[in-house]
Amino acid sequence: MEYDELLRKIMSSKKTTNGIRFTPPAVDIEQSGQRTTITLDKLANYINRPIDHLAKYLMHELTSSGQMEGGKLILAGRFGRNLINEKINGYINEYVICKQCKSPDTQLVKEEKNYFIKCMACGAEYPVGRIK
Ligand SMILES: [Zn+2]
Repeated sequence: MEYDELLRKIMSSKKTTNGIRFTPPAVDIEQSGQRTTITLDKLANYINRPIDHLAKYLMHELTSSGQMEGGKLILAGRFGRNLINEKINGYINEYVICKQCKSPDTQLVKEEKNYFIKCMACGAEYPVGRIK
């Protein structure tokens, strides 16, 4: 095989493995009275993160309190769809997407009291902030 041809083959196979489709499902948001219910189970499943960790992040970011009921987070207060989606994107950027290679194929690992991101695509490993 010619070198050029080989190189092309490597490049094209690389392209397909890196082109993982990452389209997190939209969350259902319902407002009733002074409460906002966000259905998180599908999203947590898709991004492969503990639902409680995601819920904790949202409560912290929205400076609200809430409780989990099944796969739903019930927040005290009314929060709009745009704001919630913005916070979810923030979570994904911080805790899912690899800072080094931008791959979503990562794992959240807890060691002692600290969280780390381990990237399955490039092997990067770095600490991420703890949600207070
Ligand atoms: Zn990576």
